[in-house]
Parts: sequence; structure tokens; C-alpha cells
Amino acid sequence: MTSVPTLTLNSGHLIPQLGYGVFKVAPAEAEEAVSTALELGYRHIDTAAIYGNEEGVGAAIARSGIPREELFVTTKLWNDHQAGEAPHDAIRSSLEKLGLEYVDLYLTHWPTPEKNTFSNAWEKLIEIRDAGLSRSIGVSNHLPEHLDRIVKDTGVVPAVDQIELHPAHQQSDILAWAAEHGMHIESWGPLGQGKYPLFEAPAVAAAAAAHGVSPAQVVLRWHLQRGIIVFPKSVHRERMAQNFDVFGFELTADEITTIDALDPRDGSGRVGGHPLEVN
Ligand code: NAD
Repeated sequence: MTSVPTLTLNSGHLIPQLGYGVFKVAPAEAEEAVSTALELGYRHIDTAAIYGNEEGVGAAIARSGIPREELFVTTKLWNDHQAGEAPHDAIRSSLEKLGLEYVDLYLTHWPTPEKNTFSNAWEKLIEIRDAGLSRSIGVSNHLPEHLDRIVKDTGVVPAVDQIELHPAHQQSDILAWAAEHGMHIESWGPLGQGKYPLFEAPAVAAAAAAHGVSPAQVVLRWHLQRGIIVFPKSVHRERMAQNFDVFGFELTADEITTIDALDPRDGSGRVGGHPLEVN
């Protein structure tokens, strides 16, 4: 079975660099989809309270019989639960649905700056980590200004920032912050969520032809070779298998550079919500 490389988080815990994401996997479908992912060899699952499918993820994990320590499970604190002590109730609810005693990574889902509760949420995530309910903690969709604020308020650097990242939206300012602070980056929407013709881009298509792989595999390789953590979503077994089979070839430096050039660098490549506008 393919061996997925691991990266070391600032907590000292290891994270498999490739996982399986379940955004928009319907609650009723989640158990089957995650069971298939686990059968194919995925050991890292990315879900969130707002996806409504934590129970299905948990059922698949229980059914698999895979020892807990071989799995890496991430879930996220939803925006309405950032204030006061609400994060403590939220993690307990997520753990109950997942049927787990701890998650490997718990993230603040969005900064929701108008609410101005993301720094409180971060303080509570630190308590949640200290209580042993999450091995590592991090954030999602945080811009450098939000990262600066939570580090200033608590002195604790998130293990990861999970951000929209794909060839047309590379977020170099957040990557620079991460490199400076020893934080890892996770790409969400790594395939652009299928919302723009990424796979037909000549830079991607040419590399796919050169290596005899699919365009999706080229794009996933591009993330992995840049040291980024990635968990593409598909509910189709063949695509899930293909997305996991990305360790048998390597993009050249030139191929990476031509894919790097796909970012218009004016923010227009974004396919999801803007962190300042999701509130
Ligand atoms: P993605 O970029 O993984 O795109 C998924 C889509 O790509 C699929 O629906 C399918 O249309 C296509 N696809 C997948 N594999 C393919 C293949 N081999 N060939 C051709 N097409 C293929 O988008 P995503 O699901 O939004 O992102 C991945 C994960 O990131 C999510 O499942 C979720 O876990 C996470 N996420 C997090 C946030 C956040 O705010 N933190 C937001 C969105 C997603």
C-alpha cells in the first residue's frame, strides 16, 4: 500500500500530508465514502461540524477497525460557537458524533471578523488542546492580520492554517507568514473545487501527458511538492483511488514554475468565500 509522507506539526505530532476531505459529502453518504477512503489507504480525514456528516465519518472509523493511533481526524469549530465557553460544548458535541475521545486537529473554521470572537475561540482551542480533546490545534481561512492578532493575544502559533489554495489562488502572503512562524499550510479546494478549467490549462495538461497521469494527479503533486497538506474530495471510488496514487512520479522544477504562473495574482482566482466577508 502507498505510504503517504508525514509532516511534523508544531505540537510534535505527525500529520499525513495527503488525506480525504468530506465537504459536501451528504450525511447519508459519508459512512460509505469514508469507508471507501479507508479501504483505499487514506488515514487522514478532514471534516467539520458544519458539514453535518461527523456521525457518518465516525461510523466509518468504527466499522474499519483501524487502530485509533493510525488515523488522523480533523474537525472544525463553526462560526456561531466562537464566543464565551461555546467552543467547549462544540468540541464535545463533535467528539460524540465522531465517536472519538480526541481529534488530531481542531480548527477555528473562519475568523468571522465582524463577530470579533476569533481570538476568544483561539484561547478556548488552547484549553481544549490542554484538556487532551485535540492533539493539535489550528485555524482556517485566517489572513496574516488574524494570525498576528491571535499570536499577540496568546503567544500560541496555530499548527496549521487551512486556506483556499490552488494554482489560480496561491496566497503567497499567508505562505510567507507560515514559513516565518513554523506553521503548516493546508489547501482547501486544492482542485479549485472543479469551478474553473484548471485541468485544461496547458501547464497542467502538458505535465499530465509527460508523466502519463491525470491532470488532477498533477495538481495534487504540485501541492505536495510545495510542502502543503492536501485532502481532495470525491465520492467516486476511481477518482479517490487516483487522488491517492500520487507518489509514483515527480514534477520537474520547470513544470512547477509553469503551474505557479497560473495565478493571476490579483485575487480573481478565488473560488470560495473571502475571509473578510464570511461572518
Ligand atoms: P476540491 O478542490 O477537492 O474539489 C472537489 C471536486 O473536484 C470534486 O467534487 C470533483 O468535482 C473534482 N474532482 C476530485 N477528484 C477528481 C479527479 N481525480 N478527477 C477529476 N475531478 C476530480 O474541493 P473541496 O472539496 O472544496 O476541498 C477539499 C476539502 O477541503 C473539502 O472536502 C473539505 O474537507 C476542505 N474544505 C475546507 C474549507 C474551509 O473553509 N476550511 C472549505 C472548503 C473545503
